[in-house]
Amino acid sequence: MKTGLRSQWGTAPWQRRSPFVDGTTPRAVPSATPEVAIVGGGLTGASAAYHLAKMGIQAVLFEAGLIGDGASGRTGGLVLEGTAAGIFDKVDKCVLGLQRLVEEEKIDCDLALPGCWEIEHRRDTAERMLPWTDDGHPVAIARKVSGGVVQPVALTIGIVEAAARLGAVIREQTPVTRIDLRPELSLEIEGERISPGYVVVATNAWINAALPDAPPLHTSLTFACVTRPLDSDSLSALGLGEGVPFYTSDLPYLWGRTVPDGRVIFGAGLVFGKPVTLEAIDVRAGSSAAVLDRLQRRVRALHPALCEVRFESAWAGPIAFAEDSVPLLGLHPANPRVLVSGGYAGHGVALSVRAGELLALAIAKNLPLPNWGALSH
Ligand SMILES: Cc1cc2nc3c(=O)[nH]c(=O)nc-3n(C[C@H](O)[C@H](O)[C@H](O)COP(=O)(O)OP(=O)(O)OC[C@H]3O[C@@H](n4cnc5c(N)ncnc54)[C@H](O)[C@@H]3O)c2cc1C
Repeated sequence: MKTGLRSQWGTAPWQRRSPFVDGTTPRAVPSATPEVAIVGGGLTGASAAYHLAKMGIQAVLFEAGLIGDGASGRTGGLVLEGTAAGIFDKVDKCVLGLQRLVEEEKIDCDLALPGCWEIEHRRDTAERMLPWTDDGHPVAIARKVSGGVVQPVALTIGIVEAAARLGAVIREQTPVTRIDLRPELSLEIEGERISPGYVVVATNAWINAALPDAPPLHTSLTFACVTRPLDSDSLSALGLGEGVPFYTSDLPYLWGRTVPDGRVIFGAGLVFGKPVTLEAIDVRAGSSAAVLDRLQRRVRALHPALCEVRFESAWAGPIAFAEDSVPLLGLHPANPRVLVSGGYAGHGVALSVRAGELLALAIAKNLPLPNWGALSH
């Protein structure tokens, strides 16, 4: 059984239903000049590989750890529309796109789309209240937006498996150690150099780590914990019996969701640092342990049904914020054959799948990318 990277970040509750085996057996050495090399095996890279393969372009995907070892395997799995900065052209139907892909490839990933509650810390008799006291404040359901939940590791691996079936080559445990943009576009992998036609950089919080002249991104760990399974009476008492996920649209920030077996995930908190600093953080120690402790105390104070709840696990994962929370999606200014997408903040599950499709369309059909974020400067 292969083991992932970054156990210092704790254990997310997502089981690997089918341990992914490299898309080629025996381990094929990818061509020295593949049409497209994808760096990063989260949802963005998986989706780019899948959509390229579907359009007849063979891509090789390089993942430093296991598929889903970054944010995609540690996310809460709330499926949300658009971006953290709003719903923009080209990403206004991410949820529908995700649903279609899951249905078409028959991916078993517990996708459910009951909508998502935006909650706020106030009392409003005209609106439905959650029976919670969060940080001393009442909590109202301000609106329901489109979206839902998914088991994110099953989704990521399902997309990768579909990509591999269509001819993509998947290389886990193969970090790209260097990207050269000029004079010739090349990647360094396991001491060898390859010269792909295009490179898709899908490393999200690690974009600054391997890419020269990378756009500015603020990277952080964000935190979550999961309760032991609660019975249906307790879930109903909490107002969570309908399985609708939620996030606050004001501060203090909190998000959460139920899992089909009755566990409840809650998340909040950020610890900022450069990728290399974040990699070294052990969530059982120091300021990260303090953030997790605060989160768990906050959850226990939400409602009497939670006051003695036991937590099964707690963990952190990396996210990246681009300027004004507008994600990066475009061509690298120094080399238009390098395409970059990431920096989705805590809003990337459905968006990254759509971003992967847009990257593939840009390569296969020459469709323009929106050139959002600092890439456009
Ligand atoms: C705790 C947490 C909760 C979240 N909750 C939600 C949520 O509920 N809803 C939502 O929409 N979004 C949420 N997000 C954000 C969402 O998970 C991410 O935006 C999304 O998963 C990003 O996918 P990605 O493929 O771009 O990046 P990642 O999944 O981070 O993938 C990047 C990959 O690149 C690999 N890599 C890095 N460097 C190299 C290299 N040099 N060579 C090869 N591979 C490399 C990494 O190992 C990693 O697997 C959450 C994130 C976290 C951490």
